[in-house]
Amino acid sequence: MNSQQIQGFQPENMQIYPKRFQLLLRKMYQYHNNIESDAPLLYKAYKFAENAHKTQFRRSGEPYFEHVFETGMILAELSMDTTSVIAGFLHDVVEDTNISSNTIAEEFSPVVAELVLGVTKIGGIKFDSNQERQAENFLKMFLSVAQDIRVLVIKFADRLHNMRTLYSLPVIKQRRIAIETRDVYAPLASRLGMYSLKMEFEDLAFQYLEPEYYKALDKQIRSQHDEMERYIARFSDTIQDILKKKGIQTKIYGRIKHHFSIHRKMLRQNKKFEEIFDILAIRVIVPEESDCYAALGHIHSHFVMIPERFRDFINVPKQNGYRSLHTTVIGLDKRLVEVQIRTADMHHSAEVGIAAHWKYKESKTGTDELEKQIKWLRELVEALKSDPTNDAEFMEMLKIDLFQDEIFVFTPNNDLIKLPNGATPLDFAFNVHTEVGLKCLGAKVNGRIMPLNSPLSSGDRVEIITSNNYNISYNWLSFVKTTKAINKIRKWLRQNEYEQSVKLGEEILEKGLRRLKMADRLKEAKERFADMGFQTLNLFYQALGKGDITMRDVVNRLFRAEEPSPESESDEGGLSGLLKRTVLRTPQGIRIQGIENMMVNLAKCCNPLPGDVIVGFITRGRGITIHRSECKNIPKLQIEQDRFIDVEWDISGGKKFVTHLKIICEDRRNMVYDITDIIKDAKTNMLGINFELEGEIGYGNVAIEVESVKHANRIIAKIQKIPGILNIERI
Ligand code: MN
Repeated sequence: MNSQQIQGFQPENMQIYPKRFQLLLRKMYQYHNNIESDAPLLYKAYKFAENAHKTQFRRSGEPYFEHVFETGMILAELSMDTTSVIAGFLHDVVEDTNISSNTIAEEFSPVVAELVLGVTKIGGIKFDSNQERQAENFLKMFLSVAQDIRVLVIKFADRLHNMRTLYSLPVIKQRRIAIETRDVYAPLASRLGMYSLKMEFEDLAFQYLEPEYYKALDKQIRSQHDEMERYIARFSDTIQDILKKKGIQTKIYGRIKHHFSIHRKMLRQNKKFEEIFDILAIRVIVPEESDCYAALGHIHSHFVMIPERFRDFINVPKQNGYRSLHTTVIGLDKRLVEVQIRTADMHHSAEVGIAAHWKYKESKTGTDELEKQIKWLRELVEALKSDPTNDAEFMEMLKIDLFQDEIFVFTPNNDLIKLPNGATPLDFAFNVHTEVGLKCLGAKVNGRIMPLNSPLSSGDRVEIITSNNYNISYNWLSFVKTTKAINKIRKWLRQNEYEQSVKLGEEILEKGLRRLKMADRLKEAKERFADMGFQTLNLFYQALGKGDITMRDVVNRLFRAEEPSPESESDEGGLSGLLKRTVLRTPQGIRIQGIENMMVNLAKCCNPLPGDVIVGFITRGRGITIHRSECKNIPKLQIEQDRFIDVEWDISGGKKFVTHLKIICEDRRNMVYDITDIIKDAKTNMLGINFELEGEIGYGNVAIEVESVKHANRIIAKIQKIPGILNIERI
């Protein structure tokens, strides 16, 4: 926007407005040229706020209206729309005066009233260092802005003015607000691409939180300020000349990097101010996108570049929409200078981030872009609403989304996918589609089959191989990096656990009643889940299955009063009374504490082997089933003590056990032969083998007879060494 256009702006009766209001209109006109028709409504809000706050003063002594006017002004500078600026003027009215949001809705519009209410709500949320509280408050904040992201932008403007005037507050308040600004507002602004806000937030917070460092650094920068300014001017002129000769018109802005970023560099690299070289940056603004690359080429042909510092954010924008070319060159006098090349639109977007979209709001692309950029926020909120997690999990996810660097990888169709640094093929799979993730079997990275936990790098081409079945394992959680993958895996596992508990609970109820010779009461027991305190039959089953309640509880609650049964009393009530502390050796090689005449089975779900830590689970009517202690089928929480029993291995030797190995491998000649060969060489009996192919991935199950865990592990280790084996585990 050039000054002619601004000067050309002469709304009718412009003179009737106060000077500062005219200034606001001019700012807004830069981005929204239909502002003339909005001027009367804007002015109404201006007067309304002035009047509402007329008896109020800030701590500094200035009228309270100053604060709300400046908030509106910041919003205008951010290129926000008329509605936002009006809400900015009115943002403290509901909280600080006796004007209701209904009045605002009537005087202005329901949308303005909603925005004001939203800002008021966030204002009540205090962030502190307590992780749980912080998580909860983040969540509240996100939920309240999920409807309209403008709430957050208005809150940013409000916070920025409060930070600019923070000196007037008591020190203890200064610190709390500054910490919150550094830890919550700055990362969020960054995530939303609002870099000018982010930098100002960071510098202001730095100033209040580490005044000594700030002052020292500021003094050093000031001492070199004039020299650096002269250098920037000289270097900018040089580049402008170079590009002008090539026919590229440019505008160049030079700057010294902001205090906090220099401070962070000094800390990270453990260097003194004099040792930090790249504190200068210039921005080259060119007319067209194609000029960006042309300009880059010309600059590189004059100055030596540092290859590892080059970034093409035009071809591959950041997730928050940021676009620019970054290069660091050895400039005049052998000084390192960062050069950012971008068009005017890119520049505006880089400064104001999501706020840029209100500038383009008239067009559909503006709205689409905005949707794209706040998608992560909506997804986060959706995931949290549909599947509440605990606070630590939430903070973990948020940190991933707010604070991690990004990498860029490609699909087989050359679509670009953005992932956090350290993401794996599995994260990629979940990013493509939840089903692809859940059914993921293996992955090819740049044409080579790679384990699912290998970290991806920018530029990798990733192809996911899926099967028809779900392959999720708990192990996946130990290496996935994205919110989405973590969420979906957890959700699936939880859901699956739920289904298993329900099934187990149904079985317990049926068999339990049968054992108590009350099988005829089964129908009644099922119908009376509400009497047991549950909302549905499945929740009743789940509680039984998980061991939250026992059969004893069921009988006591539903039948005991009417039908005392001494026989089942001794049975249900005192299993321990039956313990004779004898040691029984079973044919299966299990030593059981205390109980005689019990049948012992090895559980089919986990096939325990000697050497595994095991537990016995008493299944009425079926004796004792031995599980591995880590078996998923064992209800883990609130273990119903008297259904579990200590058992241990008591092997005299020579006894063989069946174990199943699940193998995922590349499909190549002789693969199955190599596997069976190892089993044969280990003098181990193979009971069965079954392999299937899915693309270039083979997956299957081998059943072998072993003596112990050690024996099984030896074979696993040998198979693992076969080239092309991607994963092998006991199931
Ligand atoms: Mn305020």
